[in-house]
Amino acid sequence: MNGDMVYDVIVVGGGPTGMMLAAELRLHDVRVLVLEKDLEPAAIVRSLGLHVRSIEVLDQRGLLERFLARGKQYELGGHFAGIDTPLPDGLDTAHPYILGLPQPVTDRLLAEHAVELGAELRRGCELVGLSQDPDAATAELADGSRLRSRYLVGCDGGRSTVRKLLGIGFPGEPASNGWLLGEMQMTAPLDEVAAVVAEARRTHRGFGVGPVGDGRARVVVPAVGVAEDRTVPPTLDEIKDRLRTFAGTDFGVHSPYWLSRFDDATRLADRYRVGRVLLAGDAAHVHPPLGGQGLNLGVQDAFNLGWKLAAAIDGWAPDDLLDSYQSERRPVAADILTITRAQSELMSVEPGPQAVRRLLGDLIAFDNVNRYLIEKTTSIGIRYDFGEGPPLLGRRLRDVSVPQGHLYGLMHAGRGLLLDQTGRLSAAGWADRVDHVVGVSEELEVPAVLLRPDGHVAWIGDDQRELLTVLPRWFGPAADPGGPHQPAPAAQPPT
Ligand SMILES: Cc1cc2nc3c(=O)[nH]c(=O)nc-3n(C[C@H](O)[C@H](O)[C@H](O)COP(=O)(O)OP(=O)(O)OC[C@H]3O[C@@H](n4cnc5c(N)ncnc54)[C@H](O)[C@@H]3O)c2cc1C
Repeated sequence: MNGDMVYDVIVVGGGPTGMMLAAELRLHDVRVLVLEKDLEPAAIVRSLGLHVRSIEVLDQRGLLERFLARGKQYELGGHFAGIDTPLPDGLDTAHPYILGLPQPVTDRLLAEHAVELGAELRRGCELVGLSQDPDAATAELADGSRLRSRYLVGCDGGRSTVRKLLGIGFPGEPASNGWLLGEMQMTAPLDEVAAVVAEARRTHRGFGVGPVGDGRARVVVPAVGVAEDRTVPPTLDEIKDRLRTFAGTDFGVHSPYWLSRFDDATRLADRYRVGRVLLAGDAAHVHPPLGGQGLNLGVQDAFNLGWKLAAAIDGWAPDDLLDSYQSERRPVAADILTITRAQSELMSVEPGPQAVRRLLGDLIAFDNVNRYLIEKTTSIGIRYDFGEGPPLLGRRLRDVSVPQGHLYGLMHAGRGLLLDQTGRLSAAGWADRVDHVVGVSEELEVPAVLLRPDGHVAWIGDDQRELLTVLPRWFGPAADPGGPHQPAPAAQPPT
């Protein structure tokens, strides 16, 4: 280890992606520093909630209770471009709901978790320069200081400095529409507001004014005719002016809490990794906010990357493990770009998109179409390419009850897990990386599954020899029996 390296990983950006990644790394004792340019957490409410797979991820790390306590559960229907649809029967999850939670709360809970686990968060620290050599990445901060670490991850949002400094291309579509967004006080009575908004939405779908609690109203209004510089927040006068144009009234809005803007640019990074520097979250992909995907995608990027990066630092990562981060997550982001882009098209009030919308409304009535789309928007249908095998291979396994409690409750430490209903298998050489749980679950129709730390199914079967060929692919070589990694006995169900 280089003496000048105090940190194994520098994470640039203390948003939801960066803090989730920091927490995942800390589960494996990785020394991690998060650099965040802002002195205070963002007050702007962008994301309004979490989808099923993110809820499961929280459950897999023992975080769900604290999120549930602060959020509100909503039915999963009407999930695609707001087209009214029922929840398909028997959706493959223990959490078939949306968890409504304003982004500042999500951000705070993720940051608290990372710091509790020992991540260091330094606010008011902006990365302005970056270089790397065979041993380390060097971050240059705005105050002129430099920090070295073995890896650096840019979780610094859609305008990522890290991505630009790496020279990674960010091709896609520039924004064609923009909106002004804010929370403020409003004097108009709510029933009157609802009627006017319903009328305005007939001709302008990207328009909304509604209460969000504590006497606040959330306003979204097309930005047509407003200053083009997207880095500058709008003024209250600009929002009032746009409201009068689209609704004929400004609803008496006043006293804004915060004002912001967003657009529908759609872009995907050419690469997620250059040497010792990686990208995650909005730094790697941006898309229209329709369907509420961005934060979910970023948190799940971090969940995929954390254990792989920790394995590379610990020295047991198989050669291509870190590269599987890009090969697994980039196609998922490309898919999200497609579904958000399609939804934004379906929101248009033009006759062509309206006709497609009517047709899709008919198609969604077919259970398998509805299920296909909902598995995409909730991200529970993701199947990574682990090669030929049964349909479950490469998918995440839903939570199932096991004699020790429930499966996700056994995954809080972020290790691999062999769930063994045969009682005949062994992962003894990997006991420092993989937990072996013996027990029969009535909800599991296969003899045994090997799960990666992110809950995706790496192997299904009952053949010990086959298992021994799969374990090194994800967990590296078996520990030397005489070395420091001693096998631990399998966890047996209570008798
Ligand atoms: C109107 C709107 C509604 C949305 N609704 C949803 C929704 O319902 N569901 C959903 O999942 N997503 C939603 N999103 C998307 C979501 O807000 C983002 O995808 C999410 O915040 C991305 O998280 P991140 O951590 O990758 O990036 P960010 O949240 O952008 O965080 C990046 C952090 O990096 C810091 N930073 C930047 N540059 C530097 C630097 N050089 N040095 C140090 N720090 C730096 C920034 O200050 C920031 O704190 C919405 C977005 C918008 C605009």
